[in-house]
Amino acid sequence: MFFEKTIGETRPFIIAGPCSAESEEQVFTTAKQLLENVNIQGFRAGIWKPRTRPNSFEGVGEIGLHWLQQVKNQFHIPITTEVANAKHVELALKYGVDWLWIGARTTVNPFSVQEIADALKGLNIPIFIKNPINPDLDLWIGAIERIYNAGIRKIVAIHRGFSSTNKHEFRNDPMWSIPIELKRLFPDLEMICDPSHISGKTSLLASVAQKALDLEMNGIIIECHCNPKQALSDAKQQITPLELSQLVNQLIIRKLTIDDQVEQQFQTKRKRIDELDSILLELLAERMKIIHEIGWMKKYNELTVLQLRRWDTILKERLSEAQKLHLNPDLVKKIYELIHAESIQIQIQILNEIESLKNT
Ligand code: PEP
Ligand code: MN
Repeated sequence: MFFEKTIGETRPFIIAGPCSAESEEQVFTTAKQLLENVNIQGFRAGIWKPRTRPNSFEGVGEIGLHWLQQVKNQFHIPITTEVANAKHVELALKYGVDWLWIGARTTVNPFSVQEIADALKGLNIPIFIKNPINPDLDLWIGAIERIYNAGIRKIVAIHRGFSSTNKHEFRNDPMWSIPIELKRLFPDLEMICDPSHISGKTSLLASVAQKALDLEMNGIIIECHCNPKQALSDAKQQITPLELSQLVNQLIIRKLTIDDQVEQQFQTKRKRIDELDSILLELLAERMKIIHEIGWMKKYNELTVLQLRRWDTILKERLSEAQKLHLNPDLVKKIYELIHAESIQIQIQILNEIESLKNT
C-alpha cells in the first residue's frame, strides 16, 4: 500500500474539540477558545455517539453538522467527525466535513467498514482509522485495507488503546507494541494518538501524549470542552482549551533523525547491540537444544514434562539474579515464562512423536 500525506511535516499535528457536539453555544465557545489559545490543525466533535449502554447521550445528530460547518466557515479550520455507516458519510460530506474518522467500535466490524468504504468510492477525502477495541492488529490492518481498496490514499491511523483484562491505570490499555508494529509494517502510514480515550482521566493525558510523540507518532487527537464538568459524554477525560494550551506548551518535540556529529557514537553502540543480540540468540539456541535432549530423557525415564519444583526453582533463582544485575524483574519473569512455555511445547511434541512412531 502507498499512502499520501495528510499531516506532512507538522509536528505535533493536533486535532482538538469536544467528545460530543452538545449545543451550538458549546461547539462555538470551545472552538473559539481553542483557536485563541492553541495551534490546532483540526476541530473534532462527535455527532453520532456509540455508547456502551442505551439511554446515555447518543449525540445530537444532523444539527451538529450544521454547527461544525459554522465553525469551519467562521474560523477557517478543517472539521472532523466520526462516521459509522454510509448515511453518516453522506451527511458529513453534505455539510463539508473535511476529514472523517472511523471509531474503535466500527473498526471491529468488517461489514460496517466495508459499507463505509463503498460509500467513499471515488472520493479523496482523508480518513482517520482508530484501532479496534480489541488488541487485534490484523483487524486494524483489515479496516485500513478496505478503505484503501475503495481508492482512498489519505489514511491516518489513530491509536486509542485497547480493551483488556490486564490491570492498569488506563481506561484503554495503550499496548504500545501494537501501533509500533503497524508503523513498522507501513512506514509511510501517518499515525496520531488519542490520549483522551487511552487515559480516561485528565491526569494521564500529558504523559501519554509525550510518549506518543517519543514513539514517532505525528500528533494527537484530544478531547477539549469549554466546561468539561458539564460534558454529556466522557466528562472525566476532557480538558479546557486553556489546559490544552498548557499541555501542548510542555510537550517536548524531539528530533526524528540523528545529527551528523553524534551519528558515529550511535553507530558504535548499535554495532555492540547487534553483537550482543547475536550472542543472546546463540545462547538461546543452545538452551533449546538441551531442552530437546532433556525431553527425550524425560520420555525414556517416564517422567512428566512439567517438573513444577524445578520450574519454581528456576524462576526464583533467575529473579534474584536479575535483581543483582539491576534488571527489571517483571521483564525477566515475562521472558522466562515465554521460554518455559516454548520448552514445554517442544517436550510435549517429543512425547507425541514417540507415540506416533509406536502406532506405526
Ligand atoms: C470518540 O473519539 O469520541 C470515540 C467515541 O472514540 P473511540 O472510538 O476511540 O471510543
Ligand atoms: Mn469520547
